[in-house]
Amino acid sequence: MSSPAKTAVKTYQNYVNGQWTSSSTGATFPVFDPSTEEVIANVAAASASDVDKAVKAARAAFDSGPWPATTAQDRGRILFKLAEKIRQNQPMLAELESRNTGKPIVEAEFDIADVATCFEYYGGLANKVNGSVMPVPANALSFTLREPVGVAGQIIPWNYPLLMAAWKLAPALAAGCTCVLKPAEQTPLTALEFANWLEEVGLPPGVVNVVNGVGEVAGAALVSHPGVDKIAFTGSAAVGKIIVKSAADTLKRVTLELGGKSPNVFFADADWEAAVDGALFGVFINQGEVCSAGSRILVEKKIYPKFVEAMTEKAKRIKLGAPLDRDTKMGPLVSKEQYDRVTSYMEIGKKEAKTAIGGGRAKAFGKGFYVEPTIFYDVDNSARIAREEIFGPVASVIPFENEADAIKIANDTPYGLAGAVWTRDIYKAFRIVKSMRAGIIWVNHMQPTYVEAPWGGYKQSGFGRELGPWGMEEYLETKQVYVNLDEAPIGWY
Ligand code: NAP
Ligand code: MG
Repeated sequence: MSSPAKTAVKTYQNYVNGQWTSSSTGATFPVFDPSTEEVIANVAAASASDVDKAVKAARAAFDSGPWPATTAQDRGRILFKLAEKIRQNQPMLAELESRNTGKPIVEAEFDIADVATCFEYYGGLANKVNGSVMPVPANALSFTLREPVGVAGQIIPWNYPLLMAAWKLAPALAAGCTCVLKPAEQTPLTALEFANWLEEVGLPPGVVNVVNGVGEVAGAALVSHPGVDKIAFTGSAAVGKIIVKSAADTLKRVTLELGGKSPNVFFADADWEAAVDGALFGVFINQGEVCSAGSRILVEKKIYPKFVEAMTEKAKRIKLGAPLDRDTKMGPLVSKEQYDRVTSYMEIGKKEAKTAIGGGRAKAFGKGFYVEPTIFYDVDNSARIAREEIFGPVASVIPFENEADAIKIANDTPYGLAGAVWTRDIYKAFRIVKSMRAGIIWVNHMQPTYVEAPWGGYKQSGFGRELGPWGMEEYLETKQVYVNLDEAPIGWY
């Protein structure tokens, strides 16, 4: 195992109104490499007053100055320049993302390429936002104008740090909004490196601000601030609920991308090799720290024992290792807090079901938040490990009798982010597609995510959609305009 070269511990500030600034309190917080548990950076912790300055800068940039006069074409060009910067700096960003999150470098490289693609997509979409003309029954013209929502507060999680920032910043900027971004306290580094290029690509000061720090302070200050028009949040359902309550006081627009307990459903007629692979990929990619993880694996009884055995055999070969090793398939979890959470669910799982593999710390590693890929089977759908989001490499395998039974179990969850079905029977596949109550359904695959297609959940997985034109809609208002063409007085009185 190669150990990454030691790099100096860098200090990062907040990016407010085009300036790097320390926190008003002088406070900083440490950021870790979860594979070594060492501090790799110190970051300024924004106070409520720092957030206030950032919101005021975003407000001023939205209400006056050069940004409102920027054309849609120009905004598109700026997004293309950002995409180019990201592609040029992909090795640096991927390495930093991998070191900070613990995710395998190869996966981080995919993430950063997706970040660039996201900026390119919305760069192209910026000047393709059209209003409509309505055929009202009057001598008049009735049409709509699409206008930016205003100042967007954007709060993101730690599992795909720069990608989650891109999913929010790119459509917001394309729409003409200004932004205050609050990265997750565990993983702010790539968003901060990214902020270095904002001025160079031509974004006026205040259009994008990045404030770091703790959710309960910096995040909460953003959500309650009267100068913010919209909150876009990706994170846990628990925090999503707090945000909706707090945002109600100022009636902000809110979009929520929350967690899930997504079913990955396997019928006996599925392609065997692809299915076994897909079951593991669906739940173990990115250490299982994926909102759409297929963490409930539903398997038809006819193939159930053989399927559990095949999954287990294959899971034994998953290569755990240092995030920067190119052959690593699973790195450590992101933090001590997440390690404690996941291992405590493993203890619960050992009592609630049978353990096929894993169930605790990956003992080969002296340091780092490594856990074993874990498969529990004979799980009842009412068990905690089948109902609660674990957000780690823990699979709950549940047998089912027939199609009706599969649909019932799949939908018996408070969440509705995603689902997948594996079968060669096209009739069955599409019946399942229609029956599953979730925002994203894959057939004979799980997890592919493209910027062109909408992303978001049903039920307690949130509301609103990111990506594609849907993602931009969330940053646009619709103004109705009525133009009277009849010069005669109304003649009512
Ligand atoms: P989290 O604890 O909900 O935190 C998400 C973000 O919210 C962080 O930036 C956090 O700050 C901030 N926050 C915490 N408390 C807050 C408050 N009271 N007011 C305002 N902001 C607050 O989630 P996480 O542990 O970072 O991420 C894992 C969760 O995200 C999982 O549930 C996962 O399913 C979900 N997720 C969903 C998607 C999706 O697209 N649907 C994608 C990725 C992740 P701190 O950094 O201080 O905690
Ligand atoms: Mg948190």
